[in-house]
Amino acid sequence: HHPALALNSLGLTRRDYEGVISTLCAGCGHDSVSAAIVEACFELDIEAHRVAKVSGIGCSSKTTNYFLNRSHGFNSVHGRMPSVATGANLANRNLVYVGVSGDGDTASIGLGQFCHAIRRRLNMLYLVENNGTYGLTKGQASATNDKQSKNRKGLGTPFESIDLAALAVELGAGFVARSFSGDKAQLVPLVKAAMSYRGFALIDVISPCVTFNNHPTSTKSYDYVREHNAALDRVDFVPVRETISVDYEPGSVVDVTLHDGAVMKLHKLAEDYDPSDRGAVLSALNRHREAGEVATGLLYLDADETDLHGLIDTVPAPLNSLQDADLCPGNAALE
Ligand code: SF4
Repeated sequence: HHPALALNSLGLTRRDYEGVISTLCAGCGHDSVSAAIVEACFELDIEAHRVAKVSGIGCSSKTTNYFLNRSHGFNSVHGRMPSVATGANLANRNLVYVGVSGDGDTASIGLGQFCHAIRRRLNMLYLVENNGTYGLTKGQASATNDKQSKNRKGLGTPFESIDLAALAVELGAGFVARSFSGDKAQLVPLVKAAMSYRGFALIDVISPCVTFNNHPTSTKSYDYVREHNAALDRVDFVPVRETISVDYEPGSVVDVTLHDGAVMKLHKLAEDYDPSDRGAVLSALNRHREAGEVATGLLYLDADETDLHGLIDTVPAPLNSLQDADLCPGNAALE
């Protein structure tokens, strides 16, 4: 059988998980990210109506059109996707929230919203297609662009770049990964694991803009990432419904059980790397960055999957399924 015709347990093909035809530039990294999300949803046997896609503004934010045609979706205003995701998530905790954003949408205008969604441990996959440039408005440098990196007009930015993965670890995200749109073997299992994690899961995907920022000295170009990819680990994701304990030994393969019983196998490539030690993760990220390397893999994982609902103790059901008395227990006594 041709892989395109293979069926998952719902009797659906990969085709059934696709969206509309992409209008992005040929070669844009974002189309590979859409393909990875399609593959992840196919392999997870996800029903489209269980997913809510949210995005903001930019070439990246068009991505939500390119997978899961029949899911819920909201294309919000610039940088405000986390607010929409928070409201929707509080109203219906049973959906799987997939937010796709870009470095402009996340690291500039939406930076405050991004930070607060993390510290509230909003249960969502927040995927950033990071190319260091504002592609939609023709190539201005974004806040993740390398300091002194020149754009197409030869202008460099004098400002420090923001490392979104390090920022997310700092602010308390439970699941932080970095990957590359050109590495499907790494990206697909990370997307599956992030969608199965309860809490805030960031995947910072280096997704090159071939039109405005693909010169070989840019750390967001295809050539640069291929040559400087410091993969710290690899994830195999096996959604089996049994609990396997976590037995952590540096240099080994670690089984990590996520909240619904799904198991992720973490192959530690770097002997001295411990993705559960926040301080060590931050210094490792800094070290790789100083060395001009792009650290990829599951960078940080907090086994405590308390999300926003756990933190503020919400009722365990979607709002539209509740009676008055559930919302305000005192009401029943007044009647
Ligand atoms: Fe992709 Fe850049 Fe084209 Fe936008 S301008 S679609 S980011 S290649």
